[in-house]
Amino acid sequence: MAERSKPERESAKTRNADPLCAVCGRKVLAQFRPFCSRRCADADLGRWLTGDYRIPGPPLDEGEPDAEDGEI
Ligand SMILES: [Zn+2]
Repeated sequence: MAERSKPERESAKTRNADPLCAVCGRKVLAQFRPFCSRRCADADLGRWLTGDYRIPGPPLDEGEPDAEDGEI
């Protein structure tokens, strides 16, 4: 009674889910991965360069740990 009634699923359909462009959310083209186009790739790079991707957080106000505590 070990009859396997496992229907063949269209695994290829779910496995090959098209990644989406990180910038605009469109379908990614292999040549521009992980973006959909050169423009989006450039836009993303530009964001990095301009610091738009900075992680927002509280201003560093506590200073650094004592690095000049004593010379070794
Ligand atoms: Zn895009």
